[in-house]
Amino acid sequence: MPRTNPQLVDARRARAIRERLINWEAASGRSFMWRSPTITSVEVLVCEILLAKTRAEVAAPVAATLLARYANAEELAKARVRDLERLLYPLGLHKKRARHLRACARDLVARFGGQVPASISELMSLPYIGRYAANAIACVAFDAAVPVIDANVARIYGRVFSLPPPPPRLANAHDLWALADQLLPRRQAKVFNWALLDLGSIICTSRSPACDRCPIAACCDQAASTVDRAPVSITLHL
Ligand code: SF4
Repeated sequence: MPRTNPQLVDARRARAIRERLINWEAASGRSFMWRSPTITSVEVLVCEILLAKTRAEVAAPVAATLLARYANAEELAKARVRDLERLLYPLGLHKKRARHLRACARDLVARFGGQVPASISELMSLPYIGRYAANAIACVAFDAAVPVIDANVARIYGRVFSLPPPPPRLANAHDLWALADQLLPRRQAKVFNWALLDLGSIICTSRSPACDRCPIAACCDQAASTVDRAPVSITLHL
């Protein structure tokens, strides 16, 4: 995604957020199979489908079982939906996910020789792959420097920058994607995105954000409002 508006976030504040999040992730980030350096792009795609609307800790064991049985797109394309449903049952939405998984695998085989395409537009042309999943797959599997925004990340940005609530479909939150793109470091984008996802799960939770343990509290509007001090340099023109 090209940078279009260099004025969205103050450079000093953006730099502080990047550095603090990347350092925090190195010390406190979570470990999952889809973060392994040896994971294949097909495995990343399968994990992203399983992770939709599901906590990572719940998806992880199911992903491990599924990928042990279906190691590539060709095998998944030939799977019986009933067998997939049984494997995916612990996640909920198992019927829908089973259909999505097999449809995606069949499309990968039919159009891409069983390989996952690297471009965002081709990823989004796959069945049931939206903007979040496409960006997450491109970032994790191909080291693309693209932002990843789920509900947790949107909540963090909303609190840090005092943003209005995003639209129900995050894919349509264009200002938010532009802001996220400007905050994203071009190097270590993957670690930065993982840090945001982890922060939203562990620290900046929806009900009780643990601002006293947050690595970016000094840059956050909400934290500043609770202790009555100004955050690091505020310039936001959304
Ligand atoms: S300081 Fe608090 S509100 Fe701000 S990002 Fe951290 S946990 Fe969330």
